[in-house]
This record gives sequence, C-alpha cells and structure tokens, in this order.
Amino acid sequence: MKYDVTIIGSGPGGYVAAIRAAQLGLKTAIIEKYATLGGTCLNVGCIPSKALLDSSEHFHTAQKNFKEHGIDINEPKVNFEQMIERKRGVVKKTCDGVDYLMKKNKIDVYQGVGSFIDKNNIKVTATDSKEKGKETKIETDKVIIATGSKPTIFPFFPYDKKRFITSTEALELKEVPKKMIVIGGGVIGMELGSVYARLGTEVSVIEFMPSIIPTMDSTMGKELERVSKKSLKMKFFLQHKVEEAKQDGDEVVIKAVDKKGKEVEFRADYCLLSVGRQAYTEGLGLENIGIKTDKRGTIAVNDHLETEVKGVYAIGDVVRGAMLAHKAEEEGVMVAELMAGQKPHINYLLIPGVVYTWPEVASVGYTEEQLKESGRKYKSGSFPFMALGRARASMDTDGLVKVLADEKTDEILGMHIIGARAADMIATGVTAMEYRASAEDVARQSHAHPTYMEAVKEACLAATENRAVHM
Ligand code: FAD
Repeated sequence: MKYDVTIIGSGPGGYVAAIRAAQLGLKTAIIEKYATLGGTCLNVGCIPSKALLDSSEHFHTAQKNFKEHGIDINEPKVNFEQMIERKRGVVKKTCDGVDYLMKKNKIDVYQGVGSFIDKNNIKVTATDSKEKGKETKIETDKVIIATGSKPTIFPFFPYDKKRFITSTEALELKEVPKKMIVIGGGVIGMELGSVYARLGTEVSVIEFMPSIIPTMDSTMGKELERVSKKSLKMKFFLQHKVEEAKQDGDEVVIKAVDKKGKEVEFRADYCLLSVGRQAYTEGLGLENIGIKTDKRGTIAVNDHLETEVKGVYAIGDVVRGAMLAHKAEEEGVMVAELMAGQKPHINYLLIPGVVYTWPEVASVGYTEEQLKESGRKYKSGSFPFMALGRARASMDTDGLVKVLADEKTDEILGMHIIGARAADMIATGVTAMEYRASAEDVARQSHAHPTYMEAVKEACLAATENRAVHM
C-alpha cells in the first residue's frame, strides 16, 4: 500500500497529526506497537493519572471537608481496587475514542513496530499475540516520527516494577503503600505523590534542586510545598542528591547526600522514580536512513520539524521542548499543514504548563527568574485565593495568581496560578498573551462574580497600577 504520509506512534502527537493530515486530503497511515492507540498520554500518562487524582481528591475532600460543609457520613474508606478499575475504564473509553476517530477519518491503522527500511519504505512487525512477528511493508511519500518518550532510570536504580517503580507502575499498584519515597519533585512526582498522600500513604519527596516543580516560577513551588505539607503531610527533602537505592527485606532503602554533604537514609515500602523522561527511538531503524540522536535519544529537527532527512519529520516528546501532550498535538497539526502547503507556526512561549495537584498549578510565558536573568524590566501583581468569595464558599482558599507585565508597555509577559481550577484558568493567560494584551486590558474586562477568575482580574489590576480592589 502507498501513502502520502505514514506516522509512527499513536500518542497525542501522532494521532492528531494523522487526523489533520487526513482532513487535508492526504492518504494517511499510522503505526502503533501497542495493542491500544493513544500513546503514553492516554494509556499510562495524562488520562490515568488524572483519573486517580480526581478519585483521591474526592476521598480527601470527603474525609477533610464534608463535616464543615455540614455533610455527615460514616468514615469514608478507600476501595483501591475499584479506584484502579474506574481508571482502567476511563483509559479504555478514551483509547476507543481514538480508534473511532481513525475510522471516521479513514486513516489506516497498522499494529506493530514500525522501522525504516529506507526513507520511503517502512516495515511493520506485528507485536499483537495473534499475528506476532508478521511483517508488512508500507510505501510512503513522507514520514512523521512520533515515538514519544520513556521514563529516565538512574543506572543504580533496581527497577523491578514491584517496589522500585516509575509512573507506569504507580498507576497500577495493588495496594495503597504505607510509606513511599518519591525521587524527583517535578510534575509527575508531585501528581502521583499527592494521589498516594491523599489515600493515606506517608510520602517523602527527595529533590535535587532547591525547589519542587523547579522549572516553574519559584513562587509556585514554594506555595505548593507549603500546602502539600499542611494538607497532605508530605515531607520534602530539597537539595538532596540520591546516590544509592537497594532492597532490604520488604523495605526499599534510599541513600542521599544533603547540601552539607551529610549522608541521609530513607526507608519505605515503595520508591517512585520520577526524574524526567527521555526520547524513545529504539527499534525505529534510524541508522538505515542516517538520522542520529543525541545522548538522550532526542532527534534533531529544524523550525519546520523536519529532520536532517528531507521528507522525514519528528514531533512530540521525541524532539526538543516541553514533554507535554498539547505541545505534541500542536506539532502534529503544524507538520500536517506544512505538508499540505500551508504556513502554520507555533509560539512555544505560549504552551502552558500544568501540575494537576490540588491546588492545581498552571503557568504560561516567562517566569520571574527568567525575566530577572534576561534583564527585562517588569512589574508584578499578585492576588491570593483567600480574598475570593468563591474560594471561601468552596473551601479552596490556598493559592494565588501572579501576573508579570512589561514595566513600560504593561504587556503581559507571564501568568502563574496556583489554586482551584488553575489548569482551566490559565487559558485566559494564553489568549491574552497570544493577542499581546496588557495587564490593564484584562483588568478592564468584566469577570463574573463570584468566580476564581476574579483573582486573575485582581492580579492584573495589581500589576497595572497596584490597585487591586479586594485587597
Ligand atoms: P507518546 O504519547 O509517548 O506516544 C508515542 C507512541 O509511539 C507510543 O504509543 C509508543 O508505543 C509508540 N511507538 C514508539 N516506537 C514505536 C515504533 N517503532 N513503532 C510503532 N509505535 C511506536 N502531558 C500533558 O500535557 N498533560 C498531563 O497531564 C500529562 N500527564 C502525564 C502524566 C504521566 C504519568 C506521564 C508519564 C506523562 C504525562 N504527560 C502529560 C506527558 C505526555 O504523556 C506526553 O508529553 C505525550 O504523551 C507525548 O506525546 P507523543 O505523541 O510525543 O508520544
């Protein structure tokens, strides 16, 4: 069979690229080595983690807040098996949705590992048990590599998938751990750490950097640490470098060195390693077309996401930039449109980043640290959730909105939110910055009362002329 475009990998980058290519009239094939479509995001990433985050948050709210809301129930209990079962159902429905979209858009789906014979010929080796090993050849004009990423594993980490685990196993545990050590206080570590902390696990986070979620504005990390200590009793060990991990009977033992050079030992029943992810290109046969990867497996691309081989593109986690589903999707759309002769572009500064803890954290644009480092003159305005009527009504008073704007022009340069529904609220920051709005532009818009969004208006008022109304 001959195609205009063949996509290897069916994550959010790959399947969205396939749909856009088909919409634009290109004859499209997609290859996926696993039995289900959707990639990391749908199977072992965004979707299952959010399902468990929501279930555990409901439990935590019932346990901590119902009484004050005037709801008397018997002591709530965790039915962990059911929680995991519900998560599986959510994943299945979402993956089935991608199957449907492939059929609807007349995209041919090939199950198996895709590898390059040359730049116009791809071999698919089936991994499904029924047809395992069967080879199919596909001829194609262009190729999009969308093979995603896998967790980074320290060489000394005895990754047995039982007690020493990554996010993949943390989404499928058989029991709620009594104690869990989380190595890495980034997005995945904080999300999954908070799931188990809400369910009653004693969670200790060990982080090498001086702050958790270190790539975000430092105000966010400080506030998330404060709230996680207060409401979830999570413990944080910052500026600790983990050097050893081993099993001792039923216990995992982690040794780290603190900032003063003192050795610190941690013991628990589970250890979750969440120190980042790296590009995945194994089995692709890149050597057959002369594409090299860097040490971390990343494929180099130009501004049009084309690799060093003409007609072969790469998108999503397998290329540079934030490892986020919506970044991969934008890149998928961009490449399909370029192939169809359009002139799309992506503003990478405006790809928002979100941490789905509670409160949620969401960010777009420059952080205060980046503005300081670049020497750009800026103003800052903040507004706490505590001062919002809506937040008091829902008992979600932790958090704040911080807006950074150019000192002279008042153009919004960054928006950073920690608080209830921050993940949804950040869209307003993206829109404002896409249209190069000033803080005053947003401040002068009417925001419905009472809403969490009023904190954005007030933070913009504070950034404009330090004239927040309700503070
Ligand atoms: P992937 O989703 O990794 O898909 C790549 C696909 O390619 C896989 O299905 C793989 O099997 C397939 N493949 C690889 N090699 C071959 C081959 N040779 N032949 C055939 N198929 C192949 N991002 C967010 O934006 N929001 C979140 O809330 C979020 N939460 C996350 C939570 C967790 C626990 C994790 C691990 C990640 C999370 N992410 C989140 C990140 C997000 O999942 C990734 O950024 C996204 O999946 C990347 O999409 P992709 O299309 O590049 O690759």
